[in-house]
Amino acid sequence: MNRTGLIILLVLATSCSSKKIVSQTTKDSVKKAPIATVKTPQEKAKIAREIILQDNKSIYYYSSTITSEDLKKHLLKLTSKEFEGRKTGEKGQKIAAKYLADYYKSIELEAAISEGKYFQTIPKEYFKGKSKDTSENVLAFIYGTEKPEEVVVISAHYDHLGVKKGNLETKSEEIFNGADDNGSGTSALLEIAEAFQKAVIEGEGPKRSVLFLNLTGEEEGLYGSKYYTSHPVFPLKNTVVNLNIDMIGRVDKRHEDNPNFVYLIGSDKLSQELHFISEAINKKYTQLELDYKYNDTKDPNRYYYRSDHYNFAKNGIPIIFYFNGIHKDYHKETDTEDKINYEILTKRAQLVFLTAWEIANREERVKID
Ligand SMILES: [Zn+2]
Repeated sequence: MNRTGLIILLVLATSCSSKKIVSQTTKDSVKKAPIATVKTPQEKAKIAREIILQDNKSIYYYSSTITSEDLKKHLLKLTSKEFEGRKTGEKGQKIAAKYLADYYKSIELEAAISEGKYFQTIPKEYFKGKSKDTSENVLAFIYGTEKPEEVVVISAHYDHLGVKKGNLETKSEEIFNGADDNGSGTSALLEIAEAFQKAVIEGEGPKRSVLFLNLTGEEEGLYGSKYYTSHPVFPLKNTVVNLNIDMIGRVDKRHEDNPNFVYLIGSDKLSQELHFISEAINKKYTQLELDYKYNDTKDPNRYYYRSDHYNFAKNGIPIIFYFNGIHKDYHKETDTEDKINYEILTKRAQLVFLTAWEIANREERVKID
């Protein structure tokens, strides 16, 4: 989750509001074909029926391969001292990038750039002085079995704030571990990728292609997603959806008494159908309380504009942002692994997986309205 961009984005938000994007997209699509909006109970029931029809044992099985133990294993690694707080363009971030690529390779998940090439390298200059060196997005890919040209993008940024005082002669207490921000989302993405890959190996791979997009430069101003969306590896017009995960391992004050929740942001902004699919999937499988508090465009926190999904939404791609809210350790060296709620992290990761699975396997592409 990005802090520094808030003010700039506030200005941006008012000048180029999401309304503008919606009306543009609507105008274009209406010209081609009338769009079915999901408004009536009958239409909602139809989507729910389709989801039930698709139901089979495998979806339960693959989602159950996302486990607390595996998430913890990744998170312990990402927050360990050698990763030095994963600051963009620095040694720790490079070690993290290698960890991600090595993991994908170990489960035989294809590189997206070219054979064996997982890194999308971003030039140093692109970061406008905010990175000491080049930096890398890490991309792994599953080729769809029926509609490979249509791509579902699941993303999480893996960079964080580095080390206090800027040197590693310091104690481990002075490293910004970023366990929740966004070690939690990064671990979830690895596990989701593994679940999809298991399906591929067992001959049940998704109909549409799936891109696992680990982004850099988020904390410096959403640079990794900005770069990807202006240098897309797969055409944006074929990008069906972006599910973005940024901070899903904690419970905020508002939910102290009911940790079984996740904030969803943006799901209804460009596609009512996406919103309803997401609700139906949760109702059927994960039963989390979906909190839309921050989805309100009038909310002063403006979270819709503050993580990587925004660069996809700006391009007219429907998005969902999964988030646990701000807590007292946000952007502090106390955002440590021991404070992660693994039970709830697992459920949230499963929700993202199940939603992606549904979107990747549905008969029709999610409609923009
Ligand atoms: Zn952050």
